[in-house]
Amino acid sequence: MLEIKGLKVKLEDEDKQILKGLDLTVETGKVHAIMGPNGSGKSTLSYVLAGKDGYEVTEGSATLEGDDLLEMEPEERAALGLFLAFQYPVEIPGVGNMTFLRTAVNAQRKARGQEELSAGDFLKEVRAKAKDLKIDADMLKRPVNVGFSGGEKKRNEILQMAMLSPKMCILDETDSGLDVDAMKLVADGVNALRDAGRSFLVITHYQRLLDHIKPDVVHIMADGRIVKTGGPELALEVENNGYADILAEVS
Ligand code: ADP
Ligand code: MG
Ligand code: MG
Repeated sequence: MLEIKGLKVKLEDEDKQILKGLDLTVETGKVHAIMGPNGSGKSTLSYVLAGKDGYEVTEGSATLEGDDLLEMEPEERAALGLFLAFQYPVEIPGVGNMTFLRTAVNAQRKARGQEELSAGDFLKEVRAKAKDLKIDADMLKRPVNVGFSGGEKKRNEILQMAMLSPKMCILDETDSGLDVDAMKLVADGVNALRDAGRSFLVITHYQRLLDHIKPDVVHIMADGRIVKTGGPELALEVENNGYADILAEVS
């Protein structure tokens, strides 16, 4: 599904290298987790995959089902089925949440050569999915994320993800700042979307989210690279001993 080879990325306007030759393969239908200390480049990786400005790829490649992601505009990546749930979801004053969702869904359907959803079908689907995530009708009418609590923003990201039905979902610290109940809602939302044709990259600083979203593969990232890959036991090792032992072992 996602194949990253030797990816090197620096800041566009500064001489600062952040990703230093990162290799990662996420197979179709699998859930991979990336854990790593603060500042190791986890968010940068997700931004670069989504096509955010400000970063320069100096070497390496990233493909989604064989298509070169790095050549594409962010909208093209989204149309192909890449979705990023942000660590810090953006507020969009003046744009109603429902309008935003409908525009995004229909733009993606158009890019995929599908007809627009009728207003009625869209409403039915969005209401059902919002209900699962305990997002009330009022939140659907308000401007996107404006005045939402941390937990509401994260749940709203999962609602967007559920409506867009992406192939490759990247969640960047979707658990940070959530209480246990909100985290369970988010995890349930993700688990409901697990599917043989869909892959996830779950970026998290802490192990606890992985109690609820059970990963197939766990990677440890440090200083701009994946330094260790293993099964779910690797996340428990981090939980128990922190990163120091693993980092000492691989350095
Ligand atoms: P993580 O998500 O693993 O905590 P980040 O990708 O946010 O790591 O950051 C990796 C490193 O790059 C950090 O040292 C961070 O300060 C730096 N960095 C990332 N983006 C920027 C930016 N736009 N300007 C300056 N430094 C940045
Ligand atoms: Mg960070
Ligand atoms: Mg981060």
